[in-house]
Amino acid sequence: MDSLASLHTEMRACRRCLEAGFDIAPGAVFSSGSVRRVMLIGQAPGVTEAQVKRPFNAGSGRRLFQWLGEAGWDEETFRAEQYMTAVTKCYPGKSANGKGDRVPSKTEQALCRPFLEREIALVNPRLIILVGGLAIKLVYPTTTRLEEVIGTAVYFPPESLTNPLNFDLATAVPLGSEQVGSFLEAGVGHGRFIVPLPHPSGASLWPNKPENRQRIARAVDILRGIREYLEV
Ligand code: SF4
Repeated sequence: MDSLASLHTEMRACRRCLEAGFDIAPGAVFSSGSVRRVMLIGQAPGVTEAQVKRPFNAGSGRRLFQWLGEAGWDEETFRAEQYMTAVTKCYPGKSANGKGDRVPSKTEQALCRPFLEREIALVNPRLIILVGGLAIKLVYPTTTRLEEVIGTAVYFPPESLTNPLNFDLATAVPLGSEQVGSFLEAGVGHGRFIVPLPHPSGASLWPNKPENRQRIARAVDILRGIREYLEV
């Protein structure tokens, strides 16, 4: 029977991308808290995250935890209690143009995907926070633009989670920020909420635009409502 402990041992020892010829820094970065009702999925660790093995450790973490703080989560409590991982778990190195880190290739994403699927199946989170375009496209169509989804959520009802890896949006309830409050007040079962956030890296200018700040504020409102509802 699969367990988080054995999965984490395999992830730490994994060298699949190196063996496939990708110049990554091996050593999976993730953190597994004590409660694990929320799973946060980012793109891939950065260099400082890889050095200290702590997700969102550096500048992008400051911005991310500012948003989560506005939603009511204290950073240390969130880190201690919830689960943090990424689409690919090893540092992919700098991008060819030197601006920021390399986006993991489709091949690396596919190589790492079985780990992510096992994490989701084992943790079975009530809320998944998708951070950045690569993570967002785990659930949403690959053509999705941030403007279309930041400030919204979807809810997978319990009957759609008999398979915990169900990402079929046709089986989910789409929720705008103005609908989440009444939806929660009506009472929902033990399904799963998905809330997207933009990548919090300082290299991304998207969050700085006024109209996008409003989208992020709506996402924060949604997260606050779900956090209070789930008591996490
Ligand atoms: S990114 Fe994932 S698949 Fe690639 S070496 Fe790291 S843990 Fe293994």
